[in-house]
Amino acid sequence: MTDPAFDVAVVGFGPAGATLANLLGKAGVRTLVIDKSRDVYDMPRAFAIDHEIMRVFQNIGIAEAVAPHTSPFTASEYYGANGQLIKRLGSIAPPYPLGWAPNMVFTQPPVEAALRAHAARWPSVTIELGTELAALTQSSDRATLDLVRDDGNERSVDARYVVGCDGAWSTVRTLSDLSYLDLQFDEPWLVVDLKVSEHGLAKLPDVSIQYCDPQRPATYLIGPGNHRRWEIMVLPGEDRREMEKEEHVWRLLSPWISRADASLCAASDPAVSSRCAAVSHICPRASRRSSARARASSKV
Ligand SMILES: Cc1cc2nc3c(=O)[nH]c(=O)nc-3n(C[C@H](O)[C@H](O)[C@H](O)COP(=O)(O)OP(=O)(O)OC[C@H]3O[C@@H](n4cnc5c(N)ncnc54)[C@H](O)[C@@H]3O)c2cc1C
Repeated sequence: MTDPAFDVAVVGFGPAGATLANLLGKAGVRTLVIDKSRDVYDMPRAFAIDHEIMRVFQNIGIAEAVAPHTSPFTASEYYGANGQLIKRLGSIAPPYPLGWAPNMVFTQPPVEAALRAHAARWPSVTIELGTELAALTQSSDRATLDLVRDDGNERSVDARYVVGCDGAWSTVRTLSDLSYLDLQFDEPWLVVDLKVSEHGLAKLPDVSIQYCDPQRPATYLIGPGNHRRWEIMVLPGEDRREMEKEEHVWRLLSPWISRADASLCAASDPAVSSRCAAVSHICPRASRRSSARARASSKV
């Protein structure tokens, strides 16, 4: 039997797959990376990285390209139901003992774009976009991936290893019958990312804030540049789809900011915009945030 065409097939070219493709490319490993989507998902999702991730980025040569889309995490303040300060967590000032700020905020789409562009530079890395994994079979020395391109073209390719970097609804996980540990901590929160004007920034807090108010727990986060995020708990009985409507989003944000001073980060893909009403998402809190932090706001 001939050698598999690739040592590693990476399924999914999001931040995990693109980082892996860069690491494999740097090591000269023959790598195929595929993604069913042709473009970077155009809305901010993950918001925080740390110094270890920056060192990985430095190792693959893109720290400089990523740095402008990051900034050090500000101090955080926790406020109780009556607006009293419960806790303040400071942030450390430079020079940072480990080279980078211990915790950073970032804007995901440009960082993902930088990772993708850099991965394309490695001679041993082949990138195929608009290509979906449809089936996966394994034998003793290889895996065979059945791929379907967005123009309808179908083909199979062999690799010694397959790595599933295909996100929360991973096809690789399903096709490989891998189990998934669900800690059953799900709370729907509305996530809103805004680009705020200078005038609007002057009115907003200059620290990140957890509003530990049982009536409506909420989080305010300071992102890089004029990027600000609010995460607002959807209360029991509230209609999640109603909450996502733009009018409703601005009503919820009115204690902080109005549309005169900010715009919702827009998605360039019309299909995405119509589904998400600009950039507000409802998503389960536990899957993307430490449960300790979520507990802090729901317990008080
Ligand atoms: C509103 C929101 C807020 C979030 N906030 C945070 C946060 O603060 N912190 C955090 O860590 N995370 C957060 N997340 C999760 C965040 O999306 C992930 O951390 C990050 O994007 C995961 O990267 P990934 O590369 O593993 O997967 P993804 O970014 O999901 O990328 C997976 C890729 O695989 C591709 N793919 C899927 N199936 C196939 C297939 N069969 N064939 C080919 N390609 C396929 C997809 O097109 C996609 O490009 C948030 C998510 C949302 C929606």
